[in-house]
This record gives sequence, structure tokens and C-alpha cells, in this order.
Amino acid sequence: GMPEAPAPPLAERRASRRIQVGPVAVGGGAPVSVQSMTTTRTSDVGATLQQIAELTASGCQIVRVACPTQDDADALATIARKSQIPVIADIHFQPKYVFAAIEAGCAAVRVNPGNIKQFDDRVKEIARAAQDHGTPIRIGVNAGSLDRRLLRKYGRATPEALVESALWEASLFEEHGFRDIKISVKHNDPVVMINAYRMLAERCDYPLHLGVTEAGPAFQGTIKSAVAFGALLGEGIGDTIRVSLSAPPAEEVKVGIQILQSLGLRERRLEIVSCPSCGRAQVDVYKLADEVTAGLDGMEVPLRVAVMGCVVNGPGEAREADLGVASGNGKGQIFVKGEVIKTVPESKIVETLIEEAMRIAEQMEKDGIAS
Ligand code: SF4
Repeated sequence: GMPEAPAPPLAERRASRRIQVGPVAVGGGAPVSVQSMTTTRTSDVGATLQQIAELTASGCQIVRVACPTQDDADALATIARKSQIPVIADIHFQPKYVFAAIEAGCAAVRVNPGNIKQFDDRVKEIARAAQDHGTPIRIGVNAGSLDRRLLRKYGRATPEALVESALWEASLFEEHGFRDIKISVKHNDPVVMINAYRMLAERCDYPLHLGVTEAGPAFQGTIKSAVAFGALLGEGIGDTIRVSLSAPPAEEVKVGIQILQSLGLRERRLEIVSCPSCGRAQVDVYKLADEVTAGLDGMEVPLRVAVMGCVVNGPGEAREADLGVASGNGKGQIFVKGEVIKTVPESKIVETLIEEAMRIAEQMEKDGIAS
């Protein structure tokens, strides 16, 4: 068949200012970046750097580390220097750690206006220090720690309350000419979160960091984040994302990358197009899809591999893919770029697909298609 034309993008990206988080541009049309947060004690430099290395390997582009104590603040300089990706210090309550993080060379600092009453008085000093070091600030509003004043005014963490808190804090920085800012307004309810970001997107031009906070264990959190980010990114809103899961942070990165790929905001690497199976299936599709996925894990080229359970839709999908199999009668027809190249017994399907995938990948790399 004919090769598929790339799908048109969902929406034009919202025009936003651009900030630099170390070497990673955020906003102003830069590709949407994926971030995560370490779960180690930041003061444990070795463990934190180890986790950052794992996150880097999984595709994380920006990492955030918590900084609740002086020991953590003391560790920031080494971590920022040795990390392969830009490090953002996450500061609640203690303005002195903001200065420490800026001086330690962190790529950015996250502050939570709801948790830092004393901050408002010190914004001028923070703005000056951040300006001097070229350090952007994320204003990170969280439903769970909303400013008391706004909680009284709105009764609960409504979209209006979250947005007002963020823009109020931003205005304090703006008074000192500081606009090197990105903003998040997180809530655990995707509907509230979506409405908050929509409102925020209209009322400022700062780049936005998307997040559903306390999204839950992996399954629920993945769906909540995919739904919320999908709605917003589908409207062009959002410049960097963090999936929050009660699961290891590398899982968050995987989910984040998949979300961007699903929305066409990032080039796909390996894509498995597999059928859900049905009463017509002549092969164990789940097992076959899992085995092919595992066998091709880590492929660095954009490769679409179709795994189909029978010959109804099988050949069609298999033909549209770079590579595919349509099963039937204990055999698998192996397709490459629309041509049946061979028919193999069922027991040889996985190894044949993997072999062919490797061959195609090698060719793509030679042709310079790999990114
Ligand atoms: Fe069912 Fe065949 Fe479609 Fe798979 S490809 S869902 S087995 S009809």
C-alpha cells in the first residue's frame, strides 16, 4: 500500500515566552519536554545521582530534587554539576534554600507560593539573585497547599483560586522586572486541572508546566495524566510535563514520552500496532505482542510493527506498517513495507520479526533516519 502521510497536528501551540532550563528550552515553540522527580534523599548524593542517571537513560530531560533540609541544600552543587540533565531544586517553606539552590548552580528553582508566606517579602532579593545567575523560577501552585487567603476567598481549590495564586506570585516577581518564569497549577482532579490551565493560558504568556498532582498508582495515574495532558496539549497548551505516579520515577518518564508520542508531539520510536484479538484469532495475540515488544525494546529508529491475530484485518494493517505479521493456520505471513517476504511457522514468528526489525533498523541508521 501507499505510505501514510503524517497526521496533521492537533492544534497550533499556544504562543508562550521561552525560558531556558539549563540547555533545555521551555516554551516559545520548543518541543514539549518530559520531567520527573527523584525519590531519594537529596542529601544522599550518590543515590540521587544514580537515580538521575537512570532517569536520563529512560529519556527524562529535566529532573527535580526536593530540598527540605540544609543537608539537601548542601548537596545541590555537586548534584547540579554531575547530573547529565538540568536539575531543578524544589523548595517549600524556606527562602534561604532558594538562594542556596541558585548559588549551587541549579538550572531552575521551583517555589510554591502557598507554602512560603515569608517569600512575598523576599521576592525582590530572590528576583535579583535569580536574575544575576540566569536562573528561571517555576511558580508551582498546588491544590493541596493553596494560599490560605485564597482558600478563604474561594472556599476550595477552584481553577480561579489556583490561577489567582499563581498570577499573584508572578506579579510580585514582575514588579522587580523578573519574567524568567514558568507556571504550574496542579490539582488531583483532571477536570479542575484542565480548567485551571485553560484559564491560566489565556491570562499570561508564561510557559506552562503541566501536572496532575497526586494522580495515584501507576494505572490510575497514567490515565488521569493522559486524559488531562491530552486535553490541554490537544489545544496547544503546555510546554513541559511531569506525570506523577506512586511508582518509580522512570515509569513517569515512560508514560510522559508515550503521551507526547500519542499526540504526535514527539516522533515515535518503536510502535507496536497490535490487534485486541477476538474470536477469530488464530494465535495468542497478547503473548505475541508482548514478546515482540520485549524483543524490540530499546530500538532507536521509528519503526511500526503490526502484530495481527488473523487474516481479516491482519494483512491490511501489516501492509501499512514497516513490518508486520498476520497469523493464520499455525503460520505467520511476514510483511515488510507491504510485501509478504516469507511465511513462517507460528513458533518462528517472534524471532523472524525481530531479525527483520534489526535489519530494517540497520538500513534506516545507514540512511540517516534514526534521530
Ligand atoms: Fe480479531 Fe483478526 Fe481483528 Fe485480531 S486482526 S481483532 S483476531 S479480526
